[in-house]
Amino acid sequence: MNNDTILCMFSGGIDSTGVLHKMFCDPEYQQRPLVVHHIFLQNRENRAKAELASVTIIREYYRAQYPQREFTYTDSIVNTSGFAPLKASRFPFDMDVCAFIAGNICVVRKDIRQVAMGRTNTDIEAGGTNFQKRMERAQNIFRSVYCLEPEVIPEYIFPVMSKTKKEIWDELPEPVRSACWYCRHPQYEDDDSASACGQCITCEEVKGFIDA
Ligand SMILES: [Zn+2]
Repeated sequence: MNNDTILCMFSGGIDSTGVLHKMFCDPEYQQRPLVVHHIFLQNRENRAKAELASVTIIREYYRAQYPQREFTYTDSIVNTSGFAPLKASRFPFDMDVCAFIAGNICVVRKDIRQVAMGRTNTDIEAGGTNFQKRMERAQNIFRSVYCLEPEVIPEYIFPVMSKTKKEIWDELPEPVRSACWYCRHPQYEDDDSASACGQCITCEEVKGFIDA
């Protein structure tokens, strides 16, 4: 039996929550040692606080529902909001930051042999060659970070790659589903609680399958 540790990069969004769900419920993964990592990614999209709230609720749900399934939770902070005075319309892609951090975690935790990422069939279909190139770049970043280590480089795995976002959504238990964060432009209240804008591309997409 494969007893290698899996690193699950968890943003609190639908896709990586689908992956996390598999780590607890799929026989292929549920016996494997698990490290769950969240990056508090502060940039001009300003989603970090909303995502962290989702991550906390979802993590505690699985901790409570599956007490026998041990895992280590860690997090890190990356803040590029200081680019703003440069009038920067660009900032590092989430995928690239995720690859860089994942590589560095693997460097310190040699028991990790697989890195589980939340890519879906919806990403692949909608993203085309541009998305493929970005995915390749992210994996090159991961390999670069790991390249001075003597071991064989851990592999990226995509446990929900064959599913659409809607299929993932349908499989998630209700408290987890409604805790997922998907909006690109969170609206914050004075107490820092966030609600979805209802208008961005992912809000529209999710509305499509909630209504259906
Ligand atoms: Zn939105």
